[in-house]
Amino acid sequence: MKSYDYIVIGGGSGGIASANRAGMYGQKVLLIEGKALGGTCVNVGCVPKKVMWQASEMLEMIHRDAPSYGITANLEEFNFTELVSRREKYISFLHGAYQRGLDSNKVDVVTGYAKFIAADVVAVDNEEFTAPHILIATGGRPSQMNIPGGEYAIDSDGFFAMTKKPESMLVLGAGYIAAELSGMAQQMGIKTMWAYRQGRPLRTFDPMLSDNLVEMYQEAGVSLYPEHIAQEIVKNADGTFTVIFENGVKLAAEKVLFAGGRLPNTRNIGLEEIGVNLDERGFITVDKFQNTSVAGIYAVGDVIGKVDLTPVAIAAGRRLSERLFNNKTDSYLDYDLIPTVIFTHPPIATIGLTEEQTYEKYQGEKVKVYRSRFTPMYFALNDYRQKCEMKLICVGEEERIVGLHAIGVGVDEMLQGFAVAIKMGATKADFDNTVAIHPTGAEEFVTMR
Ligand code: FAD
Ligand code: NDP
Repeated sequence: MKSYDYIVIGGGSGGIASANRAGMYGQKVLLIEGKALGGTCVNVGCVPKKVMWQASEMLEMIHRDAPSYGITANLEEFNFTELVSRREKYISFLHGAYQRGLDSNKVDVVTGYAKFIAADVVAVDNEEFTAPHILIATGGRPSQMNIPGGEYAIDSDGFFAMTKKPESMLVLGAGYIAAELSGMAQQMGIKTMWAYRQGRPLRTFDPMLSDNLVEMYQEAGVSLYPEHIAQEIVKNADGTFTVIFENGVKLAAEKVLFAGGRLPNTRNIGLEEIGVNLDERGFITVDKFQNTSVAGIYAVGDVIGKVDLTPVAIAAGRRLSERLFNNKTDSYLDYDLIPTVIFTHPPIATIGLTEEQTYEKYQGEKVKVYRSRFTPMYFALNDYRQKCEMKLICVGEEERIVGLHAIGVGVDEMLQGFAVAIKMGATKADFDNTVAIHPTGAEEFVTMR
């Protein structure tokens, strides 16, 4: 049996970050990855998604916006197959870059699926490895549609596996993935329908965001079906699929995509046998230091089901290694005030509490909400005057900012800096004291009245 100081199971965002940080401190580290280095983010998540989003942004610019600047570009070709092929080449390059990073920190990499044999021993095929510290960073996978014909629906992995552009796509779900993929599909010339169970999508976010998104997607030609619960999927003779909804509506499309959340990869890896506690949904329960219920075993990233974002998995993984291998005994990730962007068309940027959450959390305290709705200068010459809407939510006499939400062109690149200020406890007065940058959209955040 080979001995290590630290074994990391899962070579995705959290696992690689933690393994590299431990390696930097001279630890003997083993990383075990079942599929491909980079995990969900690099292979079937953030990276391919952002590439596709950029492409769809360019198409939108050429078709919708360029003519307003006197630029008439005749699009000769949009070669979806070529885009996918170039995207996958880039992903292969990233695999190499991750491998080089691990090599430079002297992290051993084994390809295969790990299973616990004991609390300090894992096996990959017939080989066994032991370490006093073991990290579980096995991430998650898309949940499947549990209705008759549910197997006909593709998921986000299936979307990225497409090498040919479909004629039409029906998206089922109401979260990040459904919102992002509906928008980019429409801009790529796929006839897109988006059906969700409730009255609005993105229900966990401030309603200002979904209200605007719904309006903008309708303007862009996405067909929206609120309050539609899928009951059955039927395969048609011509290879298309029909989704039958509980209200009797039937919608047909070449592809049906289901994006209704993700499940943790916690099955068949021996967790129950060694006593690692899972919650009722199957996610690993951890304390604020990422300790599981078993001493010496830790978990970070999507497998704990807290905030499923790449930088969160990375930050938690690095802080854990700082605590275990660099004597930073109080190092842990604070999960409060995490900024996030949804790559819709236009993008959504958000941090902190929604209006409703603020009133609930700060009952009896002064809550002040500032809003701004304007046409970005980008659309100044356009007949289509898409709006940007922003909101600041402040509490107390000092008007500390507890929520910042925005939807509009460019807000994806605005949020990071504001997130620093808000994490530091910025007040409305701090924002007001900052001189605006003109002409930008971001200046609205420091000039709201
Ligand atoms: P993962 O990255 O999923 O890595 C887990 C790894 O463990 C996988 O490589 C898997 O093969 C491996 N594994 C599993 N079981 C075993 C085993 N038994 N033995 C060995 N290896 C195993 N986040 C953002 O911040 N921004 C975005 O724009 C964004 N876009 C996304 C788009 C999509 C379509 C999806 C699905 C996700 C997106 N995310 C985004 C979320 C982000 O991808 C995840 O939060 C992140 O990848 C989680 O990292 P992780 O290390 O926890 O798990
Ligand atoms: P989400 O958790 O974001 O949303 C899933 C939603 O789909 C649910 O909230 C629910 O909304 C709806 N839903 C659930 N089950 C069903 C069902 N059976 N039929 C129809 N609708 C259903 O999950 P996603 O899969 O979109 O994304 C997973 C996670 O990945 C995200 O939460 C995010 O953390 C991460 N991610 C991040 C991105 C980014 O940073 N830009 C991009 C993509 C993913 P309702 O109850 O309203 O119906």
